[in-house]
Formats: sequence, C-alpha cells, structure tokens
Amino acid sequence: MSHGLEAARLQFAAISGGEVEMSHSVEGHLSSQLDARSSKSEPAAKANERKSCSERGEKVRAILKARLGEDIYSSWFNALEFESFDGRLVVATVPVKFLKSWIQSHYADDLLECCAAEFEGAERIDIVLRQPGMSKPAGQANQTVGQPSASPVAELAMAEQRRPLARPGPAFLTGRTHANGFEGSPLDPRYTFDTFVVGPANRMAHAAATQVADTVLADDRAFNPLYLHSNVGLGKTHLQHAIAWEVKRHSKAQVLYLTAERFRYQFVEAIKSQDALAFKDKFRSIDILLIDDLEFMRGEKTEQEFEHIVNSLLDGGKQVVVASARPPAQLDGLNDRMRSRLQRGLVTEISSLDPALRLKILEKRAQEKRATDPSFEIPSAVVELLADKLTESGRELEGAINRLYLTWQLMHAPVTLDIAETIIRDLVQGIEPRRIKIEDILRIVSRHYAVSKQDILSQRRHRSVVRPRQIGMYLAKHLTSRSLPEIGRRFGDRDHTTVLHAIRKIDKEVGENPRLKEEIEELKRQLHR
Ligand code: ADP
Ligand code: MG
Repeated sequence: MSHGLEAARLQFAAISGGEVEMSHSVEGHLSSQLDARSSKSEPAAKANERKSCSERGEKVRAILKARLGEDIYSSWFNALEFESFDGRLVVATVPVKFLKSWIQSHYADDLLECCAAEFEGAERIDIVLRQPGMSKPAGQANQTVGQPSASPVAELAMAEQRRPLARPGPAFLTGRTHANGFEGSPLDPRYTFDTFVVGPANRMAHAAATQVADTVLADDRAFNPLYLHSNVGLGKTHLQHAIAWEVKRHSKAQVLYLTAERFRYQFVEAIKSQDALAFKDKFRSIDILLIDDLEFMRGEKTEQEFEHIVNSLLDGGKQVVVASARPPAQLDGLNDRMRSRLQRGLVTEISSLDPALRLKILEKRAQEKRATDPSFEIPSAVVELLADKLTESGRELEGAINRLYLTWQLMHAPVTLDIAETIIRDLVQGIEPRRIKIEDILRIVSRHYAVSKQDILSQRRHRSVVRPRQIGMYLAKHLTSRSLPEIGRRFGDRDHTTVLHAIRKIDKEVGENPRLKEEIEELKRQLHR
C-alpha cells in the first residue's frame, strides 16, 4: 500500500471524527454555472462542448494519476467526469455525495492545478452530483445556493436515516441467487445492510455498496466494477450479501452471487460434461454479478473464462462487484488487462476496525440475540473488554457474542468478566496466526542483517546484500501465500526464476547448516510476534 493512500486513510479517519475542516476553495458557484448553461442552449453546441470537455478531461485524469499515484487516483477519481467549461469555471460530476465532499476537502487544489493545464484560464471547479440514470449533472436539483454543505459524515448519517429502519426481513426470500438454472453460493440471511455497522474503516465501502444496490438497473451506474478488498473478517462478504439481498428485495434484476471457488468448480464441471458454451451463456442475462474471494480464482482456463465473462458483462453495461483479500495490482493470477479493467470502477479497502466500531458491532450482535431472547444481558464492562481485546476481525466479535449467549443460556446468570476473559483467551488462541506480509519480512530481514531495504530491493550483487535478499525471498515463500512472480516483483522487480533459485539455495543450506537453520527460526519468531 502506498504511503499516499495510507495518508488518505488517516485523513479519512480524521474527517470521520469531525476534526477536519472543509476547504471551501471549490464550493458551489451555481449561479455562474447556471449562466454558463443558459448561454449555450442549442443541443448541438452543448454536445460539442461536452465532447471536447471530456477529451480534455481525459488528459486531466492522466495528469492527476501521475501526480497522485495509481492508488489514490483509482480510489477517488475513477468516477469523476468533466461536464463543462465556460472559460473560467470547470464543472465536474461524481456519482455520490460522499465522493464530492471528499474530493473537495482533500484534493481541491490538486484538481484545480491539474485542470489549469488543459482548461486554460480555469479559476474554479465546481463538483456536482450526477444522479443515477442521468448522464447530466443534477447540481441544480441537489444543491441550494449559499447553503453550506454538510460534512460527509453528517451526509451519510442522513442517508442512513432515510433508509427505512424496519424493513421486511429477507426470511421470505430464498437463501441463494440463481441465473438460468445456475445456482449461486448461499447467502447468509443475517448479512444485510441493516445489520452492517458503519464506521471510518468501512464508510466508503458501505456507501459504494448501497449505491450499487440502489442503482442496479439504472443506465448510468455509479461504480462499475466495484472492487472491495481487505484482510479477512472485515465485512466484504457481509457487504456482498447485503447487496444481493437488497437487489432481490427491491428490483427485478437478475443477481448472481458466487465465490471464486464455486465459479471454478462449476466451470470445471461444465468442461467435463462438454458444456462450456452453455456455461458462458448462463451469465448472459445477469444484471449484477457478485464474485467473492477473487484471490482464489485459479487455473488458466478458469481465469480466461472469468475474464471473458466479466468483460462481456461490463461491455454490456451490467454491474460487477468483486471482493478480494488483495488489491487488484496484487492479483497475480489474472492478466494485466483484467487487473486494469477491475481498477477502472471504484477500488476501496476496508481497513481494520477501530475500537469504537468493534464496540458497536458487539452491541449490534447482542441486540440481535435479544430479539430471540429479550432477557439476554451482557454487562457493559464485558462488552468493553471484548472490544478492547478482540482486535483482528468481525469473526472474533461474532464468535464472542455467540459464546456469551450460549454460556448465558446454560447458566442463566449475567456473564462475568472472568468468563469473558476465558472466552477471549479461547478465541484469541484459536485464531490463525497473524498474516505475515512481505513488508514485514523486508523490515525484519533488513534490521537483522543491518542492510537497508533499498539495498535489498536494489540491483546490488554484493554478498552482504544478496544473502539477506535470498533469505527474505525464502521466508516470503514459506510464510506467505504469494506466488513466485509476485515475490519477485516485491523484491525489486526480479524474475521468478531468480526467486526460485534463491529458495532452492537457502532450502538446501538450511538442511546442511544448523546455524543458518537457527537463524531462520529466529527470524520466523520475530515475524510471528
Ligand atoms: P470478510 O468477507 O471480509 O472476510 P465477513 O463479511 O465474512 O468478512 O465478516 C466477518 C464477520 O464479521 C461476519 O460475521 C460479519 O457479519 C461481521 N462484520 C464485519 N464487519 C461488520 C460490520 N461493519 N458490521 C457488522 N458486522 C460486521
Ligand atoms: Mg469473505
């Protein structure tokens, strides 16, 4: 992850706490925008203006990407479109309010500076909201001149309030999606938008997911594809199921939710029964395809088929939503074209859950249990202890409440802190070891051998550098699930054969040299700490 993106996320956290003041440098200048519009009323001139505007816009996008980096660009600017320019004012549009506020408060100056190169004389940029299903901005309808815009947090809170609180539960719906007799992966009835708790870590992902669910049959879709990624247990599957339930509930759209594994299994079965063509055909009438755990999309033929299907859905204007443990750039199974296509919509990461969010999730889960058994109670000290200790994922939080509930059913007495401690110990021990990242390996190896990370990644061939580099690659192979080509990329853009050579060499030496073996054990211990 780039530092830029990390910084954006930190700012994001700050703004969610209401601590960042909005910049007003690109605040709505709607009166001049209205003037600009009315002076060019014939449709031909307008169409012309928009065309040249979007061409210039493309150039601005390229400049922005170069300036801010791929990560930030694709997180915030993919959905930005340039609408008009009257010699002074540039009007750009975005599909959700949240993006508008975010760009205004964080990238106003960058945007204006990048525009100046293409829109000569540009003094201001007005970002207006594009309504789903409309190709034109709906600024007039959405903004009141002179009214200060609310903070993104307040806006989202308002949007959440607008969503009806008590909806008919999805119980009457079947727990799967179907397309042409093709069965999707099961949907968990508890994973809906109602049960999803929103906080700084997942605000963007949640806003995008609700938007996708709401605009599934609209012509002008907000984000396509939508790409969610995060470590395990942070709510990607929950959001995907929530989209599927919501679409099933409110529209006639054909929705199909599939894990990558199921996709692969079904495809392999189709090939076995010589039905590959029919397989492709089944996806033809789908309006929205949700693919979960994309990192498990493996096998050359399966990947090709997947790429083909995703491309034809996107070309046909159908919605695609993908969830993965990795960002698109780190999906080594798919080819470059597919990776870049997956980045063209909105890519957003769910970051780790902060303590306040963990507390809210626990409370929500406890509340759900109380719906079945109103007398169920958890002392607030216990909830706080759990929120404090269970830091890794939503799965632990869910597990903890389930266990507390079971304990309570058995004992019919309020759960004490002692019991909670035992549950935490159990859960924390049962959790898989912390996922080790290549970044961690580089850090530990560089510290242990006193060589800088730059040297490890460089082309230097001195033994003092080559050795730690090879040990690093060896550790990456044994402690992460990364492929050889990816390890090569992350270790200074090296070929996978170089990586293979390093691994074989260290493997062999570890067998022969007990000191090296001990050294590697020590590095592993440090990494697991
Ligand atoms: P992922 O797919 O990212 O591995 P899941 O969607 O399976 O994660 O989430 C793991 C568990 O945590 C689920 O029980 C889910 O409901 C819960 N969870 C995660 N984030 C949230 C949230 N924001 N609100 C409510 N529950 C959540
Ligand atoms: Mg998942």
